[in-house]
Amino acid sequence: MALLDTSGRRASVSSASAQPETRATSKLAQKLELNGFTRRDFLKYCGCLAGMMGLSQLAAPQVAEALEIGAEGGKLLPVIWLEGSSCTGCTEALTQGTTPDIPQLVLETIALNYSETLSAAAGHSLEEARRETIEAGSYLVVYEGAVVTAYDGNILRVADEKGTDVLLETVKNAEAVIALGSCACDGGWMAVRPDDADAMGVQKFLSEHNVDVPVVNIPCCPANPEWLTSVILEYVLTGHLPELNDKNEPAALFSQTIHDNCPRRGHFENGEFVYQFGSEEEAKGYCLYPLGCKGPQTYAPCAVTRWNRSLSWCVEAGAPCAGCATINPMNPQANWVDENTPFLERHRDFAVGPITFQPTTVAVGLTVLVVAVLGVHCAGMKLAGRMDGGADFEPERRWDEKHGGPEAHEAGARAQRLYDDLDEMGLEPKNTGLHRKRDAAARKAAAKEAPQAADSNNDTHAEGGDE
Ligand code: SF4
Ligand code: SF4
Repeated sequence: MALLDTSGRRASVSSASAQPETRATSKLAQKLELNGFTRRDFLKYCGCLAGMMGLSQLAAPQVAEALEIGAEGGKLLPVIWLEGSSCTGCTEALTQGTTPDIPQLVLETIALNYSETLSAAAGHSLEEARRETIEAGSYLVVYEGAVVTAYDGNILRVADEKGTDVLLETVKNAEAVIALGSCACDGGWMAVRPDDADAMGVQKFLSEHNVDVPVVNIPCCPANPEWLTSVILEYVLTGHLPELNDKNEPAALFSQTIHDNCPRRGHFENGEFVYQFGSEEEAKGYCLYPLGCKGPQTYAPCAVTRWNRSLSWCVEAGAPCAGCATINPMNPQANWVDENTPFLERHRDFAVGPITFQPTTVAVGLTVLVVAVLGVHCAGMKLAGRMDGGADFEPERRWDEKHGGPEAHEAGARAQRLYDDLDEMGLEPKNTGLHRKRDAAARKAAAKEAPQAADSNNDTHAEGGDE
């Protein structure tokens, strides 16, 4: 494996025994030990790292050694970590409060030179350090949060400068920019409609300003620190960025869906689903698809790398995947929040230009429209007296009435006579209902009259008898 040595030159580190002293006294090893990590933990992490870089796990000792050499010799590649419009959740995910994880320790020891949130220095001295790093060149930029451009970039000001200017200045000598977290990839939460801040991702912003620096998108809310560390270390150790997919994400990391690796997948295949939180099915760990899980359409390795020292991840913790890894770098108005809300329902937004609506709204609207049209149609039929037996019989077509010759008029007259005859016999279809009602009324009247007639007959007979 070709790796870079501490001065940035490519070197081949092929044997774990090549630098025994370096490894034994490595600053990194000491740091890890101080924080309760054994060499076994470190090698395990390096195996994962090798896997994320597309190498065999057998390369773990070589990766470990290259990191230790780098840590011993000083920082290999400076990283400037800028904050855009964000909640600093991605920084939080890296630092994890009071207990640094291996990725954090490695990153801090190997590369992390400057961070607006984490650096002890502040104010103008920190800004001076950033400018010195820019002038020296050969560095990576990590950008966290959305790029907000409203009010000509003045909506976010850093050290009395426009946030957009700080980004443009910082990337000018950078070797690559890593857009960390969904907000940095496509605006994320910040770009949700109505998007008053005109938020967007780094890739779109830089392309609009004709800045030709490679952008690597690492999505999720927050981004997993292990993915960031693997990308930085791959660049530090091999001198090249990972292969990217069509969304500029590391292809090896974002090639499979959450669903592909989900431990509940067997329940999905068996048709065993959770329909309600707190139910027996939920207790059994069934599939969360009906509760809005976006795992089938979300490409991310959350189920493989997991979170918080690989302790757990969303679906394992009982929450349906909200699809926060879905990004649309060149179209902030179709980001994961707009696309995937409401999170606990299966539905997705429809959008016509800037107007979004839910399928339920469309279905209800169409149903109301169809019912209204049918109602108007029925009322019209009733008013026109066309409810019984359909439309009026037209013995002669209207066109013939106006334009027809004697033969057409004669044919119409014959048809009219036939119609009248049928109607008289009670056979004309349009009037069968009327005939039925008329007959019923007649029968009723006859039945009413019959007892009266009988009574009057009886009276007559009685009178005759008296006589
Ligand atoms: S819980 Fe989500 S990701 Fe897991 S199997 Fe069900 S639908 Fe797929
Ligand atoms: S499982 Fe889904 S919601 Fe959770 S972090 Fe991964 S992509 Fe985001």
